[in-house]
Amino acid sequence: MTASSSPPQLPEHRPGILQELLAQARQLESCLAELDVQPLLLVYGHLTGDSATIDRFAPYIKGAWGFEESVPEEMKAELRGKLIATLKDYAEAGRPLPPAPSRELLQKMADTAVGTHVPEAYYAMIYDELNFDGKDAKTVRWRETPGAARLANFKVLVIGAGFSGIAMGAKLKEAGYNFVVVEKNDNVGGTWYENTYPGIAVDTPNHFYSYSFRMEPNWDHYFARGDEIQTYIEKCYAEMGIADHVRFEQEVASTIWDKDKGIWNVKVRRKDGSTYEESYNAVISAAGLLNVPAFPKIPGMDRFKGPLFHSAHWDHNVDIAGKTVAVIGTGASGQQIIPAIADKVGKLVVFQRSPHWVRPNPLIFRTVTDNWKWALANIPYYNKWYRFLLLWATADGLLPQMRTDPNWTNPLSLNAENQRIREWLEANIREQVNGDEELIAKVTPKFPPYGKRMLRDGGYLKTLTRDNVELVTGPIQTFTETGIVDEHGVEHRVDVICLATGFKAQCPLTPIEVVGTNGSIRDHWGEDDPRAHLGITVPDFPNLFLIYGPNTNLGHGGSALFHSECQIRYIMQALREMIEGDLDVVEVKREPFEDYNRKVDAEFEGMVWMHPGVASWYKNAKGRVVTNSPWALSVYHKLTAEFAPEEYAMSKVKAEAV
Ligand code: NAP
Repeated sequence: MTASSSPPQLPEHRPGILQELLAQARQLESCLAELDVQPLLLVYGHLTGDSATIDRFAPYIKGAWGFEESVPEEMKAELRGKLIATLKDYAEAGRPLPPAPSRELLQKMADTAVGTHVPEAYYAMIYDELNFDGKDAKTVRWRETPGAARLANFKVLVIGAGFSGIAMGAKLKEAGYNFVVVEKNDNVGGTWYENTYPGIAVDTPNHFYSYSFRMEPNWDHYFARGDEIQTYIEKCYAEMGIADHVRFEQEVASTIWDKDKGIWNVKVRRKDGSTYEESYNAVISAAGLLNVPAFPKIPGMDRFKGPLFHSAHWDHNVDIAGKTVAVIGTGASGQQIIPAIADKVGKLVVFQRSPHWVRPNPLIFRTVTDNWKWALANIPYYNKWYRFLLLWATADGLLPQMRTDPNWTNPLSLNAENQRIREWLEANIREQVNGDEELIAKVTPKFPPYGKRMLRDGGYLKTLTRDNVELVTGPIQTFTETGIVDEHGVEHRVDVICLATGFKAQCPLTPIEVVGTNGSIRDHWGEDDPRAHLGITVPDFPNLFLIYGPNTNLGHGGSALFHSECQIRYIMQALREMIEGDLDVVEVKREPFEDYNRKVDAEFEGMVWMHPGVASWYKNAKGRVVTNSPWALSVYHKLTAEFAPEEYAMSKVKAEAV
């Protein structure tokens, strides 16, 4: 895993790609016949600037997904022919591929391919995310190259080697920093390494749920299984060449700010329990949000005599074949586990406290065909345009219907579009459970769609109709030695219990003791009220940066990695400010922090997550949404694109103190 390797080069950056395509003309032709029209139109538009052709397709495209177009077959064939001729023309003329499309062309292409107007706010983000020239616009480069001694004497600690932590490490390495990544597990991957329950998969399409600087043409699934994602993370890690900086099986126990010296004193615990201390100039938490399992407070849990484990720590030593198994919780984890084990166990008892909305997804188990993989690996810009379509279809395109229309009176939805989605989801429930009215009543949420995380239907609803599956609703009363007692006092005897009960997402940095200039982070945040400026920095905690901090989880859709990359860029800019300005301390001022948090709270007004009928892990005990970002991806991208020095107190510590 640590041997370094090279990332696959995308075709637009591969010398000789056009000649290769010419040589494989037959493959190209058969491949194009299988691909969706929207990405092909974008590639064609990009290569030719032929806006008249783009205009002709516009009336037939209603959305970014392949199933949202009604382009006549002869027009599709014509487009394929034109694209092949264009590629041939480039190859024969020896012309270089064009750079990023102009702003005007991009507008026309984007509007047509997603079937609606893409607002101005998106364009900076699209250019950054799609990284047309391969130079990674999100990389923060030195304005003045610092001396080697300055960098050597400035030590950075990254907590966690999950998706975000290793990307942070890669950027620190590129810039020449002296850094260490401390990881509690014996491998990279974080939540993807730890969660190995049956059925685990991502529910964001992974051609988008992957680094923008390391797009992967060879995903086997549109929604990758857990092990495929773990393999991708390990591959990226090997390519990053940061292994010398990573310390596995070590956990940060505490980090305490020394204001006289302007450094963090960090205590690290090894696997054997021994500890050591080190000082760092800056600490970056990439510890994640969904990493501390939440165990429900149900009476008698310790009475149960059989195997009992949390979904995040699936016990693979327990043989569930033929056994009676209880799964408590029907969130994202539960709904993946339940269909994956139903045909292996003797009986499955599903405990649902409250239902979640589930949307159909035709691609969820589909594998990527060889032709698709070939296109992603060989057709210039295809990978990037496909990523853009996913970004739109699974993220910001969904945001407007999550806001209440003040004139809307139906309490079960927020507006006309949200109601339309509700009806679509209800129809899916009815179909999946074969019209079983009792089951329909049990699994249909009484809150508007998207109030809790929208789940993708991977067979959960259908599984509930199996003869060996029983759905028990309502709160659990108690555990016994042999089973679980429901709210009606009925004991369900089971052999094994899996708690798919989620994570302690409202106390980031748990269980690390973090002490700043004015007490610990828990004194500031309490148990469940974390706040940060842009989700990244906190007053009284200088030189501390958070990735996936408060109010940065994406509830409407989109890839958490998109946010991580925004945060990494911002942190790299903050560090650059320190190094180039020869500064020791950078601390966000209270005013911008409070102003930002006021705006966040105001933005939530009227949003679906605040709906009174919704209880979820997004909200704290007082009803404030503390995990989610209220912003469109384009807004957060803009908010974090430039580190604003005026929002920070930046200083040097006195020389004699150091
Ligand atoms: P979750 O969404 O918080 O779901 C926890 C489930 O446990 C809910 O059904 C909850 O019921 C139930 N529960 C909690 N305490 C209970 C109690 N005392 N008695 C009975 N039921 C109880 O947790 P999760 O499913 O692990 O997912 C957490 C997040 O992880 C997701 O929202 C997502 O962000 C991420 N995730 C993603 C994927 C993916 O990409 N495919 C997969 C897994 C997880 P209530 O609904 O009534 O609270």
